[in-house]
Amino acid sequence: MSEIILKLKTLHPIVIAIDGTSASGKSTNAKLVAKTLGYVYVDTGAMYRTLAWHCLLKQVDVNDAKAVAAACRKWKPELKCVEKDGLRAAWLSVDGYFPEKEIRMPETAAAVAHVAAVPAVRKWMKDTQRDCIKFGNLVMEGRDIGTNVFPETDYKFYLDASLAERSARRAADGVNENLAARDQRDSQRAVAPLMIALGAVVVNNSGQTPAETSGFIIGEIKKKMSAAR
Ligand code: C5P
Repeated sequence: MSEIILKLKTLHPIVIAIDGTSASGKSTNAKLVAKTLGYVYVDTGAMYRTLAWHCLLKQVDVNDAKAVAAACRKWKPELKCVEKDGLRAAWLSVDGYFPEKEIRMPETAAAVAHVAAVPAVRKWMKDTQRDCIKFGNLVMEGRDIGTNVFPETDYKFYLDASLAERSARRAADGVNENLAARDQRDSQRAVAPLMIALGAVVVNNSGQTPAETSGFIIGEIKKKMSAAR
């Protein structure tokens, strides 16, 4: 029996959890790590943004937790794994449509932390994100991956950078947003708040290039993998 459990544990796909503050380089680095290792990239922020966009489209008041929970119960998005530019990624599509541009709009960014604080939404997201394991080994980025979605993984990272640098990165993308306010909302919510997971490697990447940060993360993963052998 214990042999079977051991085998199941060994065969379980690997999950690399990358959490951190807004604009701390999670997406850029998670994509680079996923590409290098050949793992599936999962942007959980995009999933919350997709629901926030859906609520706005359906004229659901995002400050009304009950209405958001009801919208989440009703929607029927599809979880897909698609390949683009040499990267396999898991996405939610709504009625066959992936709102790639719409989820980055300021209105969606302003709504998302409200939607993400609703307990029923977090439960739905956690179940859906855990379901991504059916696609294989994952690099999953978000706010609660190491603490809540895949707490059992041995590969946890927490990214951060100075507020000035993070704001400058967003501004360079043409987005002017109050990141401190969103981080505060994410860190102070009652369910699965943003925090450093136990055992996570903390990476402050202020002044680093993506090649440096992702290179460091890949090095840490390889060290852990060879220690586990
Ligand atoms: O990473 P991104 O900026 O796209 O995330 C958008 C928002 O989604 C976050 O500010 C947070 O409110 C929510 N989120 C979350 N848990 C995650 C990923 C994102 O609450 N795992």
